[in-house]
Amino acid sequence: MKPGKVTLLSAGPGALDLLTLRAARVLGEADVLLVDDLANPEIATLAPQARVIAVGKRGGCRSTPQVFIERLMCRLARRGAHVVRVKGGDALMFGRAGEEMAALRRAGVPVEIVNGVSAAFAAAAGLGMSLTHRDHCAGVTFVTAHRQDGSAPNWSALAATGTTLAIYMGLQRVETLTATLLGHLSPATPAAAVQWAGTPQERRMVTSLGRLAADVRAAGFTSPAILLVGGAVGEAACADRDGRDALGAAAPDRLASGVMAMADSVIAQAA
Ligand code: SAH
Repeated sequence: MKPGKVTLLSAGPGALDLLTLRAARVLGEADVLLVDDLANPEIATLAPQARVIAVGKRGGCRSTPQVFIERLMCRLARRGAHVVRVKGGDALMFGRAGEEMAALRRAGVPVEIVNGVSAAFAAAAGLGMSLTHRDHCAGVTFVTAHRQDGSAPNWSALAATGTTLAIYMGLQRVETLTATLLGHLSPATPAAAVQWAGTPQERRMVTSLGRLAADVRAAGFTSPAILLVGGAVGEAACADRDGRDALGAAAPDRLASGVMAMADSVIAQAA
């Protein structure tokens, strides 16, 4: 029996044409796909030979217990399967990859990572801004609004870093987190929210820290959405409140039409 293994594969923010060529190749080699619910389910079309199991873990929704997912991966790999665990964005960004790699290593199952485009990068691309514009900031901080135990990060310390804050899982707590940041940053600090970044459904908004919470609620933003805060956001090309039309949100659609053909040719060349 061939030895099994697990690949933690980054599906990017949604559009299939934001997958890496490596991801397309690995999908073509998979025996089983375990697909996270932030990943575009159409990804399965790149792995027509694989069995597909949906293992959603969306915050607040019914989800497959993490321990079950880890056991399933180990069991399938031990039977010789190449298991591809598909995660939204980059697998190494708030994707429980650390826990899963530890469980797989404990079980002696080989594990590989395929990188991808994380939501903050897709959001910045949609907004037409750099996360690290050095006229405005010293870098970017990727931060979750709540840790695994539910605790909040140290927003005061984060406000003092002089970096662009890319806030994952922040929408539910936008009122409290902006209130804390406003203790340290001016209400005029540029801020943005992007929902479904990098997909044809993308919605984006550029506003100020002082208005961010009220504006995202008024506009009805829902998960998944990422929040960006800091001077660099002021460079966003869509300075209007909902820049959807300004930047042509349909562009990913046009690109997606060619992605299957491109992926086929990549896989054919690699074979
Ligand atoms: N591994 C993912 C992040 C998983 S944590 C990545 O690298 O992007 C889940 C959070 O990521 C969501 O609550 C949201 O804040 C953000 N997110 C994921 N996909 C997104 C998308 N397409 N648009 C906006 N935010 C997204």
